[in-house]
Amino acid sequence: MFTRVKISIFLLFTVMCLLLVPLKAQSIWENDTLALDSIYKDVLMHSQSGEWLKYLCKQVGHRLSGSPAYQSAVEYTSQVLDSIGLDSVYKQTFLVPHWRRGKPSEVRVVESATGSFPITSLALGNTVSTGENGLAAEILMVHSIEELEKLGKEIVKGKIVFYNRRMPDEVINTFHAYGRTVDQRYNGPKLAAELGALACLVRSVTTARDDEPHTGSTYHNPDGGNIPALAIGMASADRLEQAMRLGKVRLWLFCEGHFSTDKLSSNVIGEIRGSEFPDEIIVVSGHLDSWDQGEGAHDDGAGCIHAMDVLHTLRRMGYKPRRTIRCVLFSNEENGLKGGAHYADQAKGRGERHLAALESDRGGFTPRGFTFEGDAPGFIPAFRKVGSWSDLLAPYGLSLEPGGSGADIKPLQPQSTLLVGFVPDSQRYFDFHHAATDVFETVNIRELKMGTAAITSLIFLMDKHGLSAH
Ligand SMILES: [Zn+2]
Repeated sequence: MFTRVKISIFLLFTVMCLLLVPLKAQSIWENDTLALDSIYKDVLMHSQSGEWLKYLCKQVGHRLSGSPAYQSAVEYTSQVLDSIGLDSVYKQTFLVPHWRRGKPSEVRVVESATGSFPITSLALGNTVSTGENGLAAEILMVHSIEELEKLGKEIVKGKIVFYNRRMPDEVINTFHAYGRTVDQRYNGPKLAAELGALACLVRSVTTARDDEPHTGSTYHNPDGGNIPALAIGMASADRLEQAMRLGKVRLWLFCEGHFSTDKLSSNVIGEIRGSEFPDEIIVVSGHLDSWDQGEGAHDDGAGCIHAMDVLHTLRRMGYKPRRTIRCVLFSNEENGLKGGAHYADQAKGRGERHLAALESDRGGFTPRGFTFEGDAPGFIPAFRKVGSWSDLLAPYGLSLEPGGSGADIKPLQPQSTLLVGFVPDSQRYFDFHHAATDVFETVNIRELKMGTAAITSLIFLMDKHGLSAH
């Protein structure tokens, strides 16, 4: 009896050992749950994204494409990509428009029922100068392009138009709120010029309640007829609105803005070649240029660091991708989109097949998920395939929805099965967007790392399982 028990225990032990050995030897990559858990742990413990972003923000600073600072950003990110053991690191070079701000703008209410007072302002990107002495005129306040159009030439001529529409507070996703407001910044000055206005002020498109003005692109007609256009701070816009309720307001303003000949600029690219399907490319990207304010920390330093950090994480963890995984840092997103267009042209010329392209361009905040778009025949099955991973991603707070992707990857739509937007929490992004307040200190490094882990997880699943139905 005793011997039989001993033998049984021995057999049980042997069977358990036999079961445990293959489990232990099994690669973490074979089990998706285990792989994602390992990716998150590895990124949170070992990612260098905080140091990289700090360097980009503090040593390089803001970096409009065509500027010497942008060139420094190209050199720095190329060096980082060179140092993490990729299969290749290279640049794509092309011409970008070159605009400079010149002297700081000045705006002052010179006549109103509440007296004279200064307005905090910042010239919009692509704007023209007022001339040395500035210009003065009566203000005309409107809340939309349509409202200005209805007023017509007779009323608008000779005035300074003030677009005063706020981002709607009641819209939960602030990117949707931004989308409903930004037309007055991009197209508003164009219409004001057509109707004979002398200049244009735009309430900053922001969720912040401070007085920091937020710049951004405005339409520039290369054939002329442009007028100076400036963003003004929220508190200044409130004060101006109040003064206008009490009667006529006259305002003086000065600003500069200069276009010079196009400059050479580059996209920075690094990749790990796929071991089984090298011709199937998965892009992970951000844009390296920023507006000429602050440090471009959230827009889009964070996105570039995410893209670089995804490749670093896969290398550090010893993952061998089946497909080619390519990090692309685009130039000129802010004032021309030439980087995205050039990349898509080159890809088309080489007949490259992109399985998916992902862009991170919504800041370094806590990840909430991904949005997907596409019009290739494989889009629906690919989106269904991605949907089958929702249970794996849900524990990390990540949802998968149809929606927009990114401005730089959009030109790839005809050549890419899936375009993916990384979606972090949107509530604070527009506090800093295109303003002097977009600095390194506003980025929570743990949240930034969570972004890398989220994106790496999705890229891993796409690489391992592919995007076809079977
Ligand atoms: Zn951006």
